[in-house]
Amino acid sequence: MTSPTVEGIKRDIERKKKLISKHKQELDNMVLGLQSLCTHENKYTTEQYHDGGYFDQAYTVYKTKCPDCGLDLGQKIEPHSYYG
Ligand SMILES: [Zn+2]
Repeated sequence: MTSPTVEGIKRDIERKKKLISKHKQELDNMVLGLQSLCTHENKYTTEQYHDGGYFDQAYTVYKTKCPDCGLDLGQKIEPHSYYG
């Protein structure tokens, strides 16, 4: 058995990086395929309230997301008519 060398390890790292990038591309394509077929029937909306301050109105951000395909289906910001 030969002991590892710096050159050998560098070569293995480059090989592995290429493999990961190829798999990442395949994964991205699979996700895009899923997102184009998904009807987002389980989509849900989260709301996050932000306090206002002396100069800022309070507002709530509503974000809609599909848990099946991971797609962000948009967000809505609702300002409130009060400060602080
Ligand atoms: Zn979906």
